[in-house]
Amino acid sequence: MSDKVFLTFDDGPHATITPQLLDLLDQFNISAIFFCIGKHLDENQTLAQDLVKRGHLLGNHSYFHNQFSKQSLPAQITEIKKVNQLIAELAPKQGIIPFRAPQGRWTPLLMLWLIINRIPAIHWSVDSLDSRPLSVDAIEEQLLASVKGGDVVLFHDDGQLCCEVLEGLIPKWQAKGLDFGSLMSLWD
Ligand SMILES: [Zn+2]
Repeated sequence: MSDKVFLTFDDGPHATITPQLLDLLDQFNISAIFFCIGKHLDENQTLAQDLVKRGHLLGNHSYFHNQFSKQSLPAQITEIKKVNQLIAELAPKQGIIPFRAPQGRWTPLLMLWLIINRIPAIHWSVDSLDSRPLSVDAIEEQLLASVKGGDVVLFHDDGQLCCEVLEGLIPKWQAKGLDFGSLMSLWD
């Protein structure tokens, strides 16, 4: 069990929010995984390449972010392969490309396919709730109380709240003795 906290950001990259978030993560020297929607990767390719240059990992979060359980398995696989191809072009040195299902809704058949194809399936252990209409203070308070070493924390970089929360929260987490890791180191 790791004593590190792992930060993950879903649904970007976003043309204006993701660059702010990258500056913030740089300040604290934290590497994260960005589970990108393929459509947004296509629209923000230079930003995605910058993200990789700055030490982060690109993850696959489907192409359209539709509910996978309403699609056939072949349709799910087509989307995953399309986004993996795009990530391989944007980050040729990355190697392994982790996957997170849209809305975190996994099906047994999809899990089986991912295992057979040796694609790491990454869920989260703590949801920051930053996609809900909550205040910065409310989110910060619950994350300060709940997050411990080994947690994988879900944020979204398609909305401003992730930056507003993390700016104040990271120093408070550090003051509690928490440290940050890169999930990549777990399968190196
Ligand atoms: Zn998502």
